[in-house]
Amino acid sequence: MKLAFVSNDSEKSQGIKDYFQTLCHMGRFEGDDTDPDVVISIGGDGTLLSAFHQYQDCINHVKFAAIHTGHLGFYTDWVAGEAEQLAQSLINDDLVNVSYPLLQLKVIQGERSSRRVRQILCLNEATIKQVTATFICEVFIGDELFETFRGDGLCVSTPTGSTGINKSIGGAVVHPSLNALQLTEFASLNNRVFRTLSSPLIVTQDETITFRPISNGHSTEKLVLTYDNLFESAEELKELSFKVADERIHFLGSKHKRFWNRVSYSFIGPVKGSGHEI
Ligand code: NAP
Repeated sequence: MKLAFVSNDSEKSQGIKDYFQTLCHMGRFEGDDTDPDVVISIGGDGTLLSAFHQYQDCINHVKFAAIHTGHLGFYTDWVAGEAEQLAQSLINDDLVNVSYPLLQLKVIQGERSSRRVRQILCLNEATIKQVTATFICEVFIGDELFETFRGDGLCVSTPTGSTGINKSIGGAVVHPSLNALQLTEFASLNNRVFRTLSSPLIVTQDETITFRPISNGHSTEKLVLTYDNLFESAEELKELSFKVADERIHFLGSKHKRFWNRVSYSFIGPVKGSGHEI
């Protein structure tokens, strides 16, 4: 089995990485950074997001196993003390394989004569925000104009990303067994003249959400596009469209389940008598 490692800089994470690399040197596994079968992420959810973007070109055949070395994460199934158990389970090939939906983001930039079109896969979410002045954009669901948004920005998240920034801006937590995307607003302007839905909206895998930004004429307006832990300045942005990706992310875990226990434990804390098994 070919393994690659993505870890944060903490001493604990580096120690676990060393342990797996020793197993590679002993011939139990093969180290392969370019075309691995399994990517072992060691750190937190942020580390897993980095690992996902590093290996998204081989998303159809690569599997992730995430060990957390900080506080409990949403993608990180394994605790630091379980590194040996994970190694043995990889050798025995007896791990549960679970997959989650991803977001397919299409970005169109540039004038007609110099149009640039890109596709980006996101694990948590993509957001578009304006640094100065009001962000204005037409929001389409399918081919139909749904609303004209005015405010700070918009966010489209996956079910597993729903516990990230989506939740902080009032979005619902969505079970990852649903093939759906959620649209949430950053500080929408609502008054007698301007109106948006002003509540989170969830679309199915058959629907596409499209944003077409409209310039508000401010010379200072600057758009920032974020996707998971990455961001860029979105110059000459013409259109963003979002749909549930055909690809999914695959995890190897022994207990990547009990989603609602994890949500309750992470956001509310241990609840007496709940029988949490995190
Ligand atoms: P960061 O700003 O260094 O960390 C953001 C925090 O979000 C970390 O504690 C991270 O967990 C946690 N996180 C990441 N994905 C999560 C998920 N699916 N569910 C619950 N918590 C999650 O940024 P980062 O580590 O590069 O991660 C980028 C992500 O952070 C974005 O995709 C966004 O969802 C989230 N974020 C949230 C806010 C907010 O809530 N106001 C603001 C910015 C970004 P670990 O500590 O385990 O890494």
